[in-house]
Amino acid sequence: MSLRLRLALWYGGLTGLIILMIGVLAYAAYHRTQYDNLDRALEGAVEHVAGAHSSLAVAGEVAAMLATPILPNVGVRVYGERGQVVAASPNAGPAPAIDPRDVLDHPSGPPYDLITGLVPPFATVEAGGGAFGLTSDADGRRWRLYVLPVDGSKQFLLAAASLEGIDASVELFRRLVPLLAVVGAGITLIAGGLLAGYALRPVATLTETASTIARSRELGRRVPIGSRRDELGQLAATFNEMLASLEQAYRAQQRFVADASHELRAPLTAIQANLELLERQPNMPAGEQREAVGEASREARRLARLVADLLALARADAGLALKRRPVDLDAVVLEAFRAARQLAHGQTLALEPFEPARVAGDEDLLKQLVLILLDNALKYTPPAGCVTLGLRRRGARAELLVGDTGVGIPAEDLPHVFERFYRADPARSRDPGGTGLGLSIARWIAAHHGGQIDLQSQPGQGTLVTVRLPLHP
Ligand code: ADP
Repeated sequence: MSLRLRLALWYGGLTGLIILMIGVLAYAAYHRTQYDNLDRALEGAVEHVAGAHSSLAVAGEVAAMLATPILPNVGVRVYGERGQVVAASPNAGPAPAIDPRDVLDHPSGPPYDLITGLVPPFATVEAGGGAFGLTSDADGRRWRLYVLPVDGSKQFLLAAASLEGIDASVELFRRLVPLLAVVGAGITLIAGGLLAGYALRPVATLTETASTIARSRELGRRVPIGSRRDELGQLAATFNEMLASLEQAYRAQQRFVADASHELRAPLTAIQANLELLERQPNMPAGEQREAVGEASREARRLARLVADLLALARADAGLALKRRPVDLDAVVLEAFRAARQLAHGQTLALEPFEPARVAGDEDLLKQLVLILLDNALKYTPPAGCVTLGLRRRGARAELLVGDTGVGIPAEDLPHVFERFYRADPARSRDPGGTGLGLSIARWIAAHHGGQIDLQSQPGQGTLVTVRLPLHP
């Protein structure tokens, strides 16, 4: 069952129930008051006649008194000892003939139904010395009676009133309340369905877009938001944001795969070409042979480095848990400094400043980070240049500084150098051996140690890379 239908059914059902409850309550309270008031009126009329004349023996006096009806809807009769009518008010005519002694012998209960009886009375009606009765006339109309014995039960006073009006109202209520409940429920059901449909339309659009994307893989699609600023508008906006970020990740992934294949193909082609050359010309001069083998082996090393870098990034993407041990960063820096001396080709290398600093993390990865930065500094600095490596403590952080006086990075390339496979143009021409992955790996290592990398560069003057890592407490 759809959410829309469920909501509409709930609205309709609840409205019907509420109308029914209010209707039944109003029905019961209203009729309880009507019946009770009538009983009180009957009692009042009888007591009025009985109180005005302590002895009703004088028939003429009684007849004169009853000549004017006490209440227009209440007829009063005076009965004699044997149940014969002695006197009657003019409006007592239509009341059914009855022996008052029967009423006294078999008084009847309240004239209303069980539901009406559940409502507490607004004022209690006591039968006093008399008794209430119920009877029906020849037409089936109900009459309410009240009989009071007077004069030591020698005479009886009877008040009678027709219940026709109240009974008709009861009947009307009985039909009207369920009808109102059904109509009310129907109207709310339809209105609720329309409203729920309107409110849920963005959800339907969202579902439609999501399923279209799932089928077609068109991550460029977006959900139309319109001017909605409510919760569903926010949901659609968030969904679009998620799509944008998915699209970006998907494109990056596609670019990465394309770049990786391209980068892997270059050294492979070179190796293949050199091996084929050696195969085709087994008797080539020794010098040329050495050159071909040398190039193949250089390209194989480059391939190995590329694969190692790709593996490191794949590990980073997989979010592998990092070893977390206290690491003396100064020892790591010294070790990397010694290794860098082997890589230098004429540049001056200096260790300045140098302060002990301990961080928490993976020693091998931290060493890889320092080596990447030193390797870059040496790669992009001419032989006459200078490369400095430094380590210092700044507050709760250790700062690793790698500076050089090399070619620098053009301003337009600076925002991109941490992207995978990105290489600034002048650097590329100078060093075909670079993979364009070093800084991506360096940034991942720094980030996974809770730190960050900052890069400042002036083209033609040099570059300073600062890595800030939290100190081990
Ligand atoms: P690569 O393997 O090409 O060095 P990286 O990711 O380490 O890849 O660096 C990306 C690019 O940033 C390099 O190609 C280079 O253009 C530039 N770069 C990085 N470090 C330096 C530096 N110290 N001096 C000048 N350019 C640099």
